[in-house]
Amino acid sequence: MVRRTKNFAEVVFPIAKDQSFTYRVPDELRDRIAEGFRVLVPFGRKKTTGFVVGFCSQCRLKTVKPVEDLLDDTPAFSPEILQLTRWISEYYLCSWGEVLKAALPVGINLESQFLIRSREPYSSAVVEKLRKQNPKKSRIFEEISLRGPATMAGLRRRLRISNVSYYVNWLVEEGYLVVFSRMSKPRVRVKYETVITLEAGYDRWLLEKKAEELEERAPKQAEVLRIILQEGEISRADLSRLVPNAGGALKSLVDKKVLSLGKREVMRLPPEDEPEGGVKTIILNEEQKDSLLKIAREIEAEHPGVFLLHGVTGSGKTQVYIEACAEVLRRGRTAIVLVPEISLTPQIVRRFRGYFGDLVGVQHSRLSVGERYDAWRKIKEGNYRVVVGARSAVFAPLKNLGLIALDEEQDGNFKQEEPNPRYNAREVALKRAELNGAVCILGSATPSIESNYHASRGHYQLLTLTERIDQVPLPMVTLVDMIQERKKGRLKPDSVFSQTLVDKMAAKLKQGEQIILLQNRRGFSTFIKCRECGHVETCVNCDISLTYHRRDRKLRCHYCGYERPAPTACPICGGGDIRFRGTGTQRVEAELASLFPRARVVRMDLDTTLGKGAHLRILRDFSHRKFDILLGTQMVAKGHDFPRVTLVGVISADTELMFPDFRAGERTFQLLIQAAGRSGRSPLGGEVVVQTYSPQNEILEKAELHYYEGFYRDEIEDRRGLGYPPLGRLIRIGFHGRKEKTVRERAGAFADLLREQGGPFEVLGPAPSPLLRIKNMYRYQIIL
Ligand code: ADP
Ligand code: ZN
Repeated sequence: MVRRTKNFAEVVFPIAKDQSFTYRVPDELRDRIAEGFRVLVPFGRKKTTGFVVGFCSQCRLKTVKPVEDLLDDTPAFSPEILQLTRWISEYYLCSWGEVLKAALPVGINLESQFLIRSREPYSSAVVEKLRKQNPKKSRIFEEISLRGPATMAGLRRRLRISNVSYYVNWLVEEGYLVVFSRMSKPRVRVKYETVITLEAGYDRWLLEKKAEELEERAPKQAEVLRIILQEGEISRADLSRLVPNAGGALKSLVDKKVLSLGKREVMRLPPEDEPEGGVKTIILNEEQKDSLLKIAREIEAEHPGVFLLHGVTGSGKTQVYIEACAEVLRRGRTAIVLVPEISLTPQIVRRFRGYFGDLVGVQHSRLSVGERYDAWRKIKEGNYRVVVGARSAVFAPLKNLGLIALDEEQDGNFKQEEPNPRYNAREVALKRAELNGAVCILGSATPSIESNYHASRGHYQLLTLTERIDQVPLPMVTLVDMIQERKKGRLKPDSVFSQTLVDKMAAKLKQGEQIILLQNRRGFSTFIKCRECGHVETCVNCDISLTYHRRDRKLRCHYCGYERPAPTACPICGGGDIRFRGTGTQRVEAELASLFPRARVVRMDLDTTLGKGAHLRILRDFSHRKFDILLGTQMVAKGHDFPRVTLVGVISADTELMFPDFRAGERTFQLLIQAAGRSGRSPLGGEVVVQTYSPQNEILEKAELHYYEGFYRDEIEDRRGLGYPPLGRLIRIGFHGRKEKTVRERAGAFADLLREQGGPFEVLGPAPSPLLRIKNMYRYQIIL
């Protein structure tokens, strides 16, 4: 029955078009092919990787190309992942193929490439002839006939000719060049190593004698043979570590048919984080127990519900996730734990490993491509029962899923903005849990307005942890009014530190305690301005001021990476009085050096954490007290646990508040509460100082009191008035292009169309996006 229907396969591709394409299934593949397979198929003029999403027995098309090959032994996607990704493509309006690609580890897809080669050898006569027709044609011919085949992109890069394809096509038509295709290599593949074993059928005793014989004549061969006799099997890499320069000896033994070489698959696993120093026995407190009880009850349910676990920082939420995982594992099921940024919170992996050991797999984008591929395969093969990871781990190919827990569910990192699919892993987690009959726990110290709203309406069960473990009190938050400080002479011109903050820092340093400082802008100054004509240096590609980086004295655009040397005089009026304005982390660092020359300061922002493992190193050094002050962007506010930190200083609470986004207030509140959560995590106690120019701001006042309920009440009222989520839904339609006029016109025409059509929505715009131009693209938007 099944056999008969598999005549044709429906295949989707990771392209913007949401459409499936039909391919003929050749007889030899019909028994093996199934939904979810990756296949190699001709597509347009190329061969590329597609994903099988269905079959049909008949096809009305006249010419149907065949599936060329299956790319794996088993389907890459389970029926469950197919269903989930289909839903994502519908909900987030993108193609199914794009979502499927996002659910795979990067770099495993094959694609053919077009190359251009010349039909004739290089000759100066031909070049001369072409030059007369068109100099670009001759340069292209010269390049290819001398340097060999090239891709169109390669040619464009090397020759810097616009419209390369136009001239190439011309040369192809005239017979000078030909285009052909070749498969590109996937970026990752299974890694093998060479292993050495004894040739089958040899008697051990005989071999031991042989080793003795060789001792005199060829001592190295004897040594190699003895090692293999002892180990049974050893990788070539390990052997050369034990016996340097063993190549010759090994070859002789293989030639004599004493040893044989084989291949074995190896897994690239990330280096283990240092273990947690044993699991301490933890007895859950009453609130934790109560939460766990309710969760365990739902695990048994046929249609389990969603939990919102609202617990202040350090109240033992992670412990609840761990115990919930244990419950799920005990029932033979599996669990996913999602965290916003795993490289910033390595402790969580260590804690899960402490409980579940080798059953824990890790998935996140800071692993190497090979490590990610291997982790994915191990999950798929059932070697892991718990996966801890960032956003994309929501697609982890676990079977029999019983639980998804999302820590810090409000965090913006769960959202993928670029490229498609533009999804929020929280929504995907909720859907995946629903499809699997799994429990979903959303945890947070400051739940998103949306999740709290759903809890208040009874759609989610609310669980609360009201106290920090060991009753350590929440730190005291002090708002410092910078205008008042200035009036009282407690803020020096050009300083970023109020005297209040300086005094507190001095006291902590004296006591040998640690400090975290948050400044949510990197670089030195965020813009530079001429005192005389008011000119501000801006990016050539974007409508944004350039940030000054002091180390190499360059101005950089934080959107497109454009850079140029910082000017010493104003490029417009020639004036020499250029002011560096706006505060970045580098500037805070410089001022710290002059305020506290003996304090050891480490800076953590995008500029200091580019290298692999850089985050971990900084965090580890700080926790080993190699530094007194950790200064950085919002990275320093994430869930770190440093018992000796007793002061958190927020240089400016206003940076985030000013953002033109309806969530700016919410984000500020969350950031402040999170930052506060880094202070006073031990009986040493702790406090928080927040500098601001708008101390009367309601949100800052609520944060000062740790008053989540009040903040939520105000915020939900505001949103109700404006119809913002969760009381309404917003869709942003972005238009971008190189010509502003065209972009504006197209956006306008689309808005007219929407208004004409009408529907249960209101059309706002088109209007220029908050940043009109980024990377030379003009941007307009319509909001529904
Ligand atoms: P959160 O995730 O809410 O920040 P954690 O689960 O990380 O809180 O708990 C904070 C600290 O308290 C951790 O070191 C954890 O091991 C410890 N802890 C959690 N629950 C208990 C408990 N019931 N008894 C003792 N220590 C606990
Ligand atoms: Zn730019």
